[in-house]
Amino acid sequence: MAMVACRECEHRVSDSAETCPSCGIGSPGGVTQLEIKRVSRLMGAAVPMAVWIDSNHVGTLASGKSLTHTVTPGTHRVECGLQQAGSKDGAQEFDVPAGRRLVIVVTTSKWNGKPIFSAELA
Ligand SMILES: [Zn+2]
Repeated sequence: MAMVACRECEHRVSDSAETCPSCGIGSPGGVTQLEIKRVSRLMGAAVPMAVWIDSNHVGTLASGKSLTHTVTPGTHRVECGLQQAGSKDGAQEFDVPAGRRLVIVVTTSKWNGKPIFSAELA
């Protein structure tokens, strides 16, 4: 977390603040994007993978697909689970700098179907 100038009024705010305490604008530190990609695999490919960001369900991914979600800069917790199991099988926290896009690639373990994450800045 870092202090930055609000993009509207230049009040000093946390880069992960959801609203500016001075002018009330949303995402005063700017926005960033999380792109979550599911690697295509033969095993379990027919089962949709549910995705949560900071405990909010943001969608499901078919094998080989991706979804992009706009978030505030800072640390976000990404959780994935194969829906057949009906649970969050794996989670990892990612730090996303302001103005960047973080691509998170999710693959599933051959052994137990649990998600394995890797991430890089786009
Ligand atoms: Zn402001």
